[in-house]
Amino acid sequence: MITPLFSRPIRLFLLVFLLAGPAEAAERFLVATANPHASRAAQEIVTMGGSAVDAAIAAQMVLTLVEPQSSGIGGGAFLLHYDSETGKVSAYDGRETAPAGATPDMFLNGDGEPKGFYEAVVGGLSVGVPGVLRMLELAHQDHGKLPWGRDFGPAVRLATLGFRVSPRLHGLIAADSHLKAFPAAHDYFYDAAGQPLAAGAKLTNPELAATFRAIAAGGARSFYDGPIAEDIARTVRHATINPGTLSTADIATYEAKRREALCRDYREWRVCGMPPPTSGGLTVLQILGILGNFDLASLAPGSAQTVHLISEASRLAYADRAVYIGDPDFVSVPVGAMLDAAYLTERATMIRPDRSMGEAPAGLLQDRAEAPPQSQGYEGHSTTHLVIVDQEGDVVSMTSSIENAFGSRLMVRGFLPNNQLTDFSFRPTAGGQPVANAAAPGKRPRSSMSPIIVLDREGGFRYAIGSPGGSRIIAYVVKALVGVLDWGLDVQSAIDLPNHANRNGRTELERGTALEDIAEPLREMGHDFALETLTSGLHGSTRAPDGEIAGGADPRREGMVIGD
Ligand code: GLU
Repeated sequence: MITPLFSRPIRLFLLVFLLAGPAEAAERFLVATANPHASRAAQEIVTMGGSAVDAAIAAQMVLTLVEPQSSGIGGGAFLLHYDSETGKVSAYDGRETAPAGATPDMFLNGDGEPKGFYEAVVGGLSVGVPGVLRMLELAHQDHGKLPWGRDFGPAVRLATLGFRVSPRLHGLIAADSHLKAFPAAHDYFYDAAGQPLAAGAKLTNPELAATFRAIAAGGARSFYDGPIAEDIARTVRHATINPGTLSTADIATYEAKRREALCRDYREWRVCGMPPPTSGGLTVLQILGILGNFDLASLAPGSAQTVHLISEASRLAYADRAVYIGDPDFVSVPVGAMLDAAYLTERATMIRPDRSMGEAPAGLLQDRAEAPPQSQGYEGHSTTHLVIVDQEGDVVSMTSSIENAFGSRLMVRGFLPNNQLTDFSFRPTAGGQPVANAAAPGKRPRSSMSPIIVLDREGGFRYAIGSPGGSRIIAYVVKALVGVLDWGLDVQSAIDLPNHANRNGRTELERGTALEDIAEPLREMGHDFALETLTSGLHGSTRAPDGEIAGGADPRREGMVIGD
C-alpha cells in the first residue's frame, strides 16, 4: 500500500491554495479594500500622486456609500500608518465616545438585567460620537499630500451618478428586520414596491453627495459643528425607538487621538498593533507572545495540533482581555505587564499538548473586578478593513466600523450613525466592582479591531493585515499572521485558510471547510467545538525583500485588490 504524502485535511488545504491562485503582485502601489468601487477610488487617488492616507480617505468615503452596512462617516476607526522614510509606525484613534448623558447602567432594563442585544442596538441610545472624520483629518495633517477636498472626488461622483447594489448589501438588507422601522432608512434601502433593493439595482445618494461636498469644502469641522451635527443629535434624541442623549456639544468636542503603536517581536519580525481602547493589538500580541514559545512552523496549517495550540493561546489572552482592557483614559490597563515576555512564557506553560485547559483564568496582574459574562454568539456582518501601499512605500492599515450591520438603523443626511456604544459591557459591575469596560460619559467602548503592520529587523515594511468580525477579529488576524510569518504562505493563501476562533469558550471551526475533519480529534482533546459560518473580511498586503508587493482579499466578502 502506498502511504499518501498528505493527510486528507492537508490535501484539502493544498486544493484551496491552488483554486485561490497566486496573490496579486505589484511594484509601485497596492490597494486592498472590501469593495471594488472603493479599491478603484483608492487607485485613482494614489495614481494622481496621493499618499496612502489620501487614498484611505477616498476609499472610506466610497465605502460609506457602497458598503453602508459596514462603516462610514457615522462610525469610528483605528488607523496604523507606516512612514517609509523614518520607519515609524503611528497609531490614530477615531473610536466613538459616549455622550455626557451616558451612564454605567444605560444598557440594563428596569429589572437591572442586561437588555437583549438588538433591544439596545436599534435607535438612538447606542449612538456614540462618530470619530472617522476627525481621525482621517488628523492623519491627513500628518501624512496627506493632496488637498483634503480632492480625496472626496470619487465618492461625490459615485453618490451622484449611482452605483449597483452588491449581492452582499442586498442580502443584508433582506435579512434585516429593523431598517423598516425608520422612514429614512426604509425609503433608502427598499424599492417603490416595498421590497429590499435587489442586487444590481442602481442606487444614488444625493444627500450623501451634498454631505461629502460640505466636508470636502469645510473640513471635518463642517460635520462636527453646524447643521450636520444638529441633524445627528436631533435624530438620536428624537428616535422613535430608544431615544438617546447625544448632543451637539458632545459632537463638537470630539477629539481623535494620536497614540503610541504597540510593537513587539515575534520570531524575526516586529509586529505593531493599535493600543487600547481596542483590545485588538494587545490581544493579538499576547497570543503571538504565547505562540512564540512553540514551534508552529513544524505543525501543518489546519491540523488538530495547530488548532488546539492556537485555541489554547487564545483562551489565555481572551481571559486577560475580558478583565483588564477598557479605555486607557478612564481605567489603568496593565499593557506592559500583559506583554511581558516572561509573563507570556509562564502563561504558555499552562498549555498541555494533548488536552484543553477548558476556560482559562485571567492572569493576576493588578487589582481588578472579575470578568463580566462574555457574549459568545454574536457574528458581525459589519466593519471593514483596508490596506494601502502608496508609491512612496508608505502604508495604511485601517479598520473602520459602524458596529452592527447598518449600525443604529437611523439615517442622517445619507449616512448611518453607529451603534458602537453596545461594545460597552452591558453589566457595569462584576462581584461588586466596576468592570474596565463599563460605560461612562466621554469614554470609548472597548473594541476588537486589530489593524496590524509587521516590520522586518531593519524596520522595513513587510506585512499589513486586518479584518472585521466582532470579537473574532483577533482570531482571524492571528490566523492570517501565522499563515505568512510561520508557514511562509503568500498573503492570499493565508487569508483563504479556514477560520477558527476560541474566545475562551467553545472552539469555533469554519463550517464547510477541511476543519470539519478535525472536530473529532479536538473533541477527544476536551474541546467543546461548534461549526460556524465565520465570515472574516481579511484584507492585506506583503512586501518582499526584493520590493514586490502582493495583496489579498477575503473570498468570504466582496473585496478587491488592485496593484501596479
Ligand atoms: N464593534 C466591533 C469592534 O469595534 C466590530 C464589529 C464587527 O466587526 O462586526 O470591535
